[in-house]
Amino acid sequence: MSIDLIIIGAGPAGLTAAQYGARANLKVLVIEQLAPGGQALLIDVLENYPGNVGSADAPPKTGFEFSQDLHKQAESFGAQFLSESVLSLKREGNLFTLALGNGETRTAPAVILATGAQHRTLDVPGEAEFSGRGVSYCATCDGPFFRNKKIFVAGGGDAACDEAQYLSRLSSQVVLVHRRDHFRAQKALAERTLHNPNIEVRFNTRIKEIRGGQKVASVILERTGDDGKGIGETREEAADAVFIFAGTIPQSSLVPDTAKDENGYIITDQKMASSVPGLFIAGDVRASPFRQVVVAAAEGAIAAHCAAEYIDRLNG
Ligand SMILES: Cc1cc2nc3c(=O)[nH]c(=O)nc-3n(C[C@H](O)[C@H](O)[C@H](O)COP(=O)(O)OP(=O)(O)OC[C@H]3O[C@@H](n4cnc5c(N)ncnc54)[C@H](O)[C@@H]3O)c2cc1C
Repeated sequence: MSIDLIIIGAGPAGLTAAQYGARANLKVLVIEQLAPGGQALLIDVLENYPGNVGSADAPPKTGFEFSQDLHKQAESFGAQFLSESVLSLKREGNLFTLALGNGETRTAPAVILATGAQHRTLDVPGEAEFSGRGVSYCATCDGPFFRNKKIFVAGGGDAACDEAQYLSRLSSQVVLVHRRDHFRAQKALAERTLHNPNIEVRFNTRIKEIRGGQKVASVILERTGDDGKGIGETREEAADAVFIFAGTIPQSSLVPDTAKDENGYIITDQKMASSVPGLFIAGDVRASPFRQVVVAAAEGAIAAHCAAEYIDRLNG
């Protein structure tokens, strides 16, 4: 069977694109290397998705339940799924050819890249173990679970300062640690962070280890070298949560020749069209000021709609 539209990645962007593409009568194939849901599978309670309020007998959906529903919905409209990784993508004439991890290829005139982004990790003991149990990479998502708790934030860029500000509205005990002696964040944001009474900033400090039982209970802090004082000294401090903002890595390496911003996120126009004709981009891999499920889903819908228009034009 010939495919009209291939979607790479089945996170919220790819799954929503699949539903919209299939409902527009396109033959849609979604290729996902892991499980459908992407990062949304990690979300405990997806309480900030519009309308996901639950009922008197049921709480709002978890990220896992939400992902399962998106998957079911896309399949019910006819989208097909393939569990495989896409290794490369090339365009010849008006056709894309995708090489898969199992050695096979798939072709289609239009592709939506919805491969998401991965958070950089600190790579310290306890980080992976307590992920989702006190360690988080998203303050707007998980911050409300730690109201009035002791929260450590790691990082020194815009994201760390921005998210520390957000968390400071939930708790007066936010400690922002940065391994250097100054922030990388924009000046105004850095100043606001430094003057926020609910945020204690500790420069020249890094989180060396995260400890706990069922959930995070403490962090081991280490003095780093920038001010030359007490290098390597460590101390243990009680903690309820650790938010890590060490940057994100867009999964955009499949399309090296596409226009990207300085951090590797793919630039599109309002139709989610990349600089390569027929290649549309949606979700966290796209250059965007805000990365959330609702944004990824909306971009997936736009990308599928515009991919359908593109295919109509190709078919004359
Ligand atoms: C811990 C955590 C909590 C969060 N909490 C919230 C929250 O409460 N509310 C909210 O709105 N947002 C939250 N977010 C952010 C939200 O999950 C993301 O914005 C959203 O999932 C982005 O969707 P996406 O489809 O663009 O990408 P992703 O969800 O990253 O999905 C991309 C998919 O593409 C697949 N893929 C990548 N490369 C390939 C390849 N080469 N071949 C095949 N498949 C590939 C990946 O396996 C993945 O499944 C949270 C994120 C994290 C990490």
